[in-house]
Amino acid sequence: MSRVNLAIIGGGLVGASLALALQAGAKARGWKIVLIEPFAPGDSWQPSYDARSSALSFGSRQIYQRLGVWREISRRAEPIKQIHVSDRGRFSTARLSAMEEGVPALGYVVENAWLGQCLWQHVDKDVISWRCPAEVTRMEPLPDGYRLTLNDETTLECDLAVLADGGRSGLREQLGINVRKRPYNQSALIANITPSEAHNGMAFERFTDEGPMALLPLPENRCALVWTRLGMDAQRLADLSERDFLSELQGVFGYRLGTLKQVGARHLYPLTLVEAEEQVRSHLAVLGNAAHSLHPIAGQGFNLSLRDADALAAALLASDKPLGDFATLQAYRERQRLDQDLTVGFSDQVTRLFGSTQPLVSLGRNIGLLGLDLLPPAKRWFARQAMGLGTRPDA
Ligand SMILES: Cc1cc2nc3c(=O)[nH]c(=O)nc-3n(C[C@H](O)[C@H](O)[C@H](O)COP(=O)(O)OP(=O)(O)OC[C@H]3O[C@@H](n4cnc5c(N)ncnc54)[C@H](O)[C@@H]3O)c2cc1C
Repeated sequence: MSRVNLAIIGGGLVGASLALALQAGAKARGWKIVLIEPFAPGDSWQPSYDARSSALSFGSRQIYQRLGVWREISRRAEPIKQIHVSDRGRFSTARLSAMEEGVPALGYVVENAWLGQCLWQHVDKDVISWRCPAEVTRMEPLPDGYRLTLNDETTLECDLAVLADGGRSGLREQLGINVRKRPYNQSALIANITPSEAHNGMAFERFTDEGPMALLPLPENRCALVWTRLGMDAQRLADLSERDFLSELQGVFGYRLGTLKQVGARHLYPLTLVEAEEQVRSHLAVLGNAAHSLHPIAGQGFNLSLRDADALAAALLASDKPLGDFATLQAYRERQRLDQDLTVGFSDQVTRLFGSTQPLVSLGRNIGLLGLDLLPPAKRWFARQAMGLGTRPDA
């Protein structure tokens, strides 16, 4: 059996980002950190690094810049110059622009596989040791930490365990951490699309009576599609031939990008808002999708988790208490509470508002979109939420 100061369970986007945020300070303090992940880097089965892309907010860029990894990420990050929000079958639209907000980009779209590669390569292996491929099968609380059992039957003790094992976290359940769940009865269909016309850095958010869709700009003039539909309907779309799929998508999206010429592999993600009722205990922190899984349409889930990871690392490194100290973990939780509440609320309300077919609600959102385009303060507020800057006290 061995003992480390900190164990990160899950080397997905969030676990790997936490490792990066900790490593310089950990080196100075002589902390031993282990990162445990069942899938090898580059394995397309790893949930965090599958065929999806992520819209990173401007705030996330600032964090990765500070962690010294942005230069690498930016080599394949497509800047979002404008966001075009529309409601199908209604006239109202809203446009948000980087120039008006005085920033180089409203956000950046990055393929998860590339982001993962950048993060893993920047982890300092002298400070963060890898257990990969390895899976934690059991966690037992000890008076001074946690004992972890891995799938090869070895055990490991740590002062602080960070649970970043994703939305379907079996370990969270094993520890008796309850979750609040609100199913959306929808699935997100994702695929890469090639249009005939240049996207010029324009991201599209389009709301329809059947569910919202986002088309985000990617390098090589491709677009990342996130199309939300009722579960059965999403499955139907996933099963269509390439030609029929493109024709149905074109009918809903229109010709803003000319003809939609090609579609890559399609994947489905069933959607439920999940929030853990406890995020910290003595010697334990829950992070990422294990703490909160959001509807993807507002592109906020990972951005929020990155802010959490950054804040947790800062709280641990600033504390003069031993790792795992409950007061330190609670202070981190309090610092992030407002950001989490506002971001989860924003994503959920946008999803429900724009997912409704009730006439009064759709009239309301029609007026809302018109208002958004006409009223600069409302527009600015929306843009800041979308950029992930909305709730940061320092932004
Ligand atoms: C369709 C879709 C589009 C999205 N788009 C965006 C977007 O544009 N912007 C945005 O901000 N967010 C977006 N999100 C949200 C984002 O994908 C998630 O916030 C992010 O993937 C969460 O990462 P995670 O590391 O917490 O969890 P995961 O990605 O699930 O990673 C968990 C890791 O833990 C490992 N693991 C699991 N069990 C164990 C165990 N027992 N022991 C050790 N390791 C384990 C897994 O192998 C995995 O690597 C989107 C989500 C979806 C579904």
